[in-house]
Amino acid sequence: MLFYKCNFCDPITKRGEKPVKSINAETDEFIKDDKGKYYHLSCYKKYLKDKKKLTDIEIEKIINDCQEKRKLEIKENKEKDRFLQWIMNFYDGSLPAYFMTKLQKVREGTYEGINEPIDYLTMLDIYQHMENYLRKLRAKKQIKNVTQQMNYDLAVVIGNYGNYKKYKAKQEQNVVSKNDINKQIEVEEKVNAIKNNKEYKDDDSEFNLIDIIDELMF
Ligand SMILES: [Zn+2]
Repeated sequence: MLFYKCNFCDPITKRGEKPVKSINAETDEFIKDDKGKYYHLSCYKKYLKDKKKLTDIEIEKIINDCQEKRKLEIKENKEKDRFLQWIMNFYDGSLPAYFMTKLQKVREGTYEGINEPIDYLTMLDIYQHMENYLRKLRAKKQIKNVTQQMNYDLAVVIGNYGNYKKYKAKQEQNVVSKNDINKQIEVEEKVNAIKNNKEYKDDDSEFNLIDIIDELMF
């Protein structure tokens, strides 16, 4: 079970003393404020009212904001876990710290070569789309260690982000126009052809990920 220290009702402990943590994360209503401190929900209300002299309306707004932020944080963590689980399965189960730093940069949009944040589910989707291709590359290139492989693959994946976005936009557009079922089938056939045949060429297929990578890489 997970416990947190309530920043209002739990006593301040001195160094070396065992801190009191009375918030049970599974059963208690609690809040994490914007400084990352935890409170029982009722304690937080009391704290804002008595110490910060806020009105009930102000308190309600702050609590709503905190809970909204918390929801997003939980969602983000779940997505991250799902992505990292896939990465660990795809490689040898390790997650080197430097690789995590790179992923964090991709997530924040500060990674070299990208100019916007990429969320974890999108990263996962690109890796999954490119999985077979990455395996083939791996066999061909025979990179010695897994850390180099992870770096190399990440560069390939990020290098194809633009193509991926075009591909998704096209896919969405095709899903939206339900009347155009034939076109949808045609797109799927093209995608399948690309998946099945690395040599497949088509001038107007913007979602031709694998061929584009081939041109970039070789
Ligand atoms: Zn408390």
